[in-house]
Amino acid sequence: MARGLPKQKPIAGVKEVIVVASGKGGVGKSTTAVNLALGLMANDQSKSVGLLDADVYGPSVPKLMNLKGNPELTDNNLMRPLVNFGISCMSMGFLVDEVAPIVWRGLMVMSAIEKLIRQVDWGNLDYLVIDMPPGTGDVQLSITQNIPIAGAVIVSTPQDIALLDARRGAEMFRKVNVPVLGLVQNMSVFQCPKCNHQTHIFGSDGAKELAHTLGVEMLGDIPLHLNIRETSDKGQPVVMSSPNSPEAEAYRRVAAAV
Ligand code: ADP
Repeated sequence: MARGLPKQKPIAGVKEVIVVASGKGGVGKSTTAVNLALGLMANDQSKSVGLLDADVYGPSVPKLMNLKGNPELTDNNLMRPLVNFGISCMSMGFLVDEVAPIVWRGLMVMSAIEKLIRQVDWGNLDYLVIDMPPGTGDVQLSITQNIPIAGAVIVSTPQDIALLDARRGAEMFRKVNVPVLGLVQNMSVFQCPKCNHQTHIFGSDGAKELAHTLGVEMLGDIPLHLNIRETSDKGQPVVMSSPNSPEAEAYRRVAAAV
């Protein structure tokens, strides 16, 4: 059996890969990945952007980007990404039934992700944003070892437990020499839509402190906002559907900082 680190191979047609990761699930990683991809395009319309959903266990991109259906095949037998809002997307959710349970073994997961990355006609992309599965397991490690990554964005809430996991994530990327572009603090403040009172439900400056400890940048602060949840559920991400809202502005600032 071959030993040693697999060689990193660029993805055909893709200039820069940015991975969006989190130490644990439910902190807003996919929502950030989608709005970051849209933010990159909103900040510079000349850029072409793709989005790869590497979370084969719980793909969110089909719902968030309001896309479904099977990708067509090109003459070279490559899958054509599905496109919405100008973003080329690929997800396991386009290939399997939404409700059918998938029983994955470790190697199957890797070979599925490899296909989602390489057997796709991405065209020419300035950025490919990868929505990583949560955590720091074999799959995450394998992605970072197989493709050259320009940088990682780590999403965390300001809560202690999420931060501990985020720290593990940051350390994993460091070990495999992937630059950590910085942290996004999500759900840091809730502003009551009725009285405008602000509440720090998950604490206030946790991610900022962690960024300082790890010596990485704070890329942005995303508020806990009904508009973000509702637009996500409708498949109309906030950067696209409410471009003038402070929430959209917060994501565009993150995109400008990466
Ligand atoms: P993860 O990818 O980390 O599992 P998701 O992006 O799927 O997390 O987000 C989990 C849930 O939280 C979703 O219902 C999403 O709409 C919601 N959510 C994420 N970020 C915010 C936010 N800043 N404000 C309100 N709801 C949010």
